[in-house]
Amino acid sequence: MPQLVFRCPYTNQPIPSGIVSGKSSLQQTLDTPISVRCPHCGFMHHGTVADGYLSDEPDLTASP
Ligand SMILES: [Zn+2]
Repeated sequence: MPQLVFRCPYTNQPIPSGIVSGKSSLQQTLDTPISVRCPHCGFMHHGTVADGYLSDEPDLTASP
């Protein structure tokens, strides 16, 4: 299953949310507010599920 990933507005690096979801179930939660702690700049980034994207890259899950 792909993981929902956000992008840091300061470093432009991907932020793994830890949320694993399929595309169809994600469509029903686009308005859900999400806060993720960014491992790149150290700030919390706030948005909604719609701000993220699905990624299958396995190495993202290894980020702290
Ligand atoms: Zn950041």
